[in-house]
Amino acid sequence: MDNIRAVIDTLFSQINSAEILHHKKDWDATLGVTEDMFCSKFMIENKCYTIDQVRELYYLLRSDWISFPTECLEYRQPDFFYVLLHFSQKVLIEKDFQPCCRFQELLRWRMLTYKLGEDLFTTSYLAFNNFNANIKRDSFFWPVVLMQDNPSIAHILRKGVCDLHFHLRGSSLNYELNWLSLMNDMSGRQAEFEKLKKCLSHKTITTDNEKWETAHLTTIKAYAIRYYLFMRITNKKKAEAFFPVLLVILQCEDEMAIQTVGAIMEVNGLIDSYKFTEGSKLEIGDKSFYPDYAILDSFGTVERWNLAEKILSGERCLLYNMFYLIFSGNASAEDKWLFYAYLLQKGQIRRELIQLNEKAGFSNFSDYERRKEIFIEGRWGYQELIPKLAVDMAFSKEYLKYLECRITPKDTSSQLIHSIELLERQINRRLPGERTSEENREKQKKGRKHYYILHFIKQRDAESDNRLNSLIEYPCVMVDYRHYGFRRKIKKQGEAILETVRERPRMAELIVGVDAANSELYCRPEVFGPVYRYMKCFCNYSPDFHELGYDHYKGLRSLNFTYHVGEDFWDITDGLRAIDEAVLFLNLKAGDRIGHALALGIDVDLYYKHRNHRVVMSKQNMLDNAAWLHHKARELGIQLSVNVALELENIFENFYDEIYLGKKEREGENIFVEDELLDPGRNLTTYYYSWLLRGDDPAYYLNPISQLTEYQYHTWWEITALNTLTADMAHVRKDKIAVWLYHYYHYDSGVRRRGEERCEICLSSEIIGLIKKVQHAMRKEIASRYISVEANITSNHLIGSFKHYAQHPITQLYRLGLPSIGEEELCPQVSVSVNTDDRGIFDTSIEDEYALLALALEKERDLEGKKRYAPKEVYEWLNNIRRQGFEQQFRKHKGSKYE
Ligand SMILES: [Zn+2]
Repeated sequence: MDNIRAVIDTLFSQINSAEILHHKKDWDATLGVTEDMFCSKFMIENKCYTIDQVRELYYLLRSDWISFPTECLEYRQPDFFYVLLHFSQKVLIEKDFQPCCRFQELLRWRMLTYKLGEDLFTTSYLAFNNFNANIKRDSFFWPVVLMQDNPSIAHILRKGVCDLHFHLRGSSLNYELNWLSLMNDMSGRQAEFEKLKKCLSHKTITTDNEKWETAHLTTIKAYAIRYYLFMRITNKKKAEAFFPVLLVILQCEDEMAIQTVGAIMEVNGLIDSYKFTEGSKLEIGDKSFYPDYAILDSFGTVERWNLAEKILSGERCLLYNMFYLIFSGNASAEDKWLFYAYLLQKGQIRRELIQLNEKAGFSNFSDYERRKEIFIEGRWGYQELIPKLAVDMAFSKEYLKYLECRITPKDTSSQLIHSIELLERQINRRLPGERTSEENREKQKKGRKHYYILHFIKQRDAESDNRLNSLIEYPCVMVDYRHYGFRRKIKKQGEAILETVRERPRMAELIVGVDAANSELYCRPEVFGPVYRYMKCFCNYSPDFHELGYDHYKGLRSLNFTYHVGEDFWDITDGLRAIDEAVLFLNLKAGDRIGHALALGIDVDLYYKHRNHRVVMSKQNMLDNAAWLHHKARELGIQLSVNVALELENIFENFYDEIYLGKKEREGENIFVEDELLDPGRNLTTYYYSWLLRGDDPAYYLNPISQLTEYQYHTWWEITALNTLTADMAHVRKDKIAVWLYHYYHYDSGVRRRGEERCEICLSSEIIGLIKKVQHAMRKEIASRYISVEANITSNHLIGSFKHYAQHPITQLYRLGLPSIGEEELCPQVSVSVNTDDRGIFDTSIEDEYALLALALEKERDLEGKKRYAPKEVYEWLNNIRRQGFEQQFRKHKGSKYE
């Protein structure tokens, strides 16, 4: 990050609001940010600077960056908030009375606003410009995520675009609605803040006696300050009357103290009475509520395309007017001090709700994901707005033609129907500006552009982890198979989905596909094998077909399938194996998709170099990966050198001996497993066969030999319980040893427990070379199976392990339109699409995803420092990707004109 951004980030997100409120007497040009405070906070995120360099930056801040930001003949007083303009004036422009980002600056803009939000910059920028032009705006309508000024991107998008990977509940104004909900009512929040107790953002204690307040206390103070500031700009008398109450609140050192003085009740009362007299009500359907007391002008003719902007307008108006007051020289030192504290407080809570830290990996993401509705749940209005705004915001851009929203399935068909009907009602609720004529309703029905994908939520098998831990004393007992309870749950959910699409034609119109999301590290594709295959057969070869007759199925469509895989993995081999498992066990076929699949495209050398060639994972995974890599390479026609083969065999044999033969444990003890089965299992091919069986329902492997010989199918579930649709599997099931190995994999507590132990090994560069070749060949395999990949640029950048947008795997998967970069083999051209994933959590938009990709590629340089691509090449490539989105749709529109 360049210096000005690092300084702004420190000033507006690292400084502790409690310190600023505490040092009231130290007001000066930097509003209480002392040199020591600045230096210690700056060093937290910018470790490569020396303390002397940071001190220089502080002097630069005082001498230059808080001075008047544009050239001016006469002397102007410096101001702390000018520092924002020293950045935003280089990055923003005003176009058609709206702020807009310069395309060339988009990466810098995104990286900083991702941390601080956009409104801090846009409102200060507009206030400064407007004051200098001697105008004052009263309209705060501009996009939630700013547009950029590159006409080529706008041109491409205008041709129409799809978003195929969009989690409905994570794609709304998640943080903003949480904040508004808090700022409008702070009563009864104790339990919600209890849930926030685990602090996610770092708070290193860096200065002497530094105190951090609890999130609850911080928010209560922000709540009171916001009311004061809002009064300050709308009704100065009321502000003055409230000031003593505010001071009492600010002096409190914990939530209890505030409760005791009854101050929250008092502020609540003031806000409520203000709302009822001055505020404006939003009518959604036949109910109404006040989203924010700071929204003064009525919701009047608001329509769905500008509802989100309207919801934000109160807060934007507050910030804009405060900046206006400050830049016009009419704000007191106290105003600035309180305003600064408010911005810091808001930032602190934002850090707890939006994933801003730089930790990669999915568990970090899901910590945040769980918080996305924490202050909204059970509050009518805000809760209604979550799905509504998600869909309305997406379609506020008329170039979005098609959207696949992911929602979770339910245990029964009636629950599922109920939840979709509720969502549809929430999404379709009419706003005052929308006509309610029959004709309009008909039009809306025909013009449906959003559909649902039901995504199972992957879960760790915590139940059996606990049970295994309790069995340490007994080395070898039978246990339930892996994911025993969870497999039953998803079967039930799968049946509920099928029942719904079979019995309810209207629902069948809306549900287009099935997916599984969430952390994949402890829940591999095998868990979903039976349920996916079961669902895939629906209405293709249903067993009751002849009973119910053709008419019963007439008009029904098969479901479509996608699966999140290769996003978070123990190492690249592990991620590639997961992708292979998804294809084989879930029977993915032409037209199906996989979500993310980063393992297919990330730079193998770089990945292992950053980890010093070491990988850490469970012994079971290590064993599986070694056996899989050995076999997969041969299957793909890759020659193994003697050394590589030996290295893989060694890893395989060592871990096989430990896990399956219990070598370490058994020394000097009685042998307790049947060795005539497990000893011959110590063979790479046999073991690979047992891995191939993992897509089968483990219920058939308790007494496998008799169960498999007697295997008969009466129900459709029984037919698909075994993975019979993959060729050669019958042959594998005849291998008695492989079948028993699969039995032990699930049912033997000793194998399970030993397999869970962790290990670390160092991979030779030859093995890494092999992984690279396998990765490359697997891209070809995926392309030749016509399976496509849903890429999510910002989400992958934040969850994945690559540091720059240009390193996104998408350029390795698909290059049609881009020149080749001298790879040994040609790019296999896997079909890819660009999507947003969780736009409310990653703060992005479909336009931004395209623009960021374009910019990253335009900036790419080759080894000689020359630009790698001409702009025209980049845009041709982007346009190809855009078109592919239409090809990948699960619900095809007849004669789509956008391709
Ligand atoms: Zn996703």
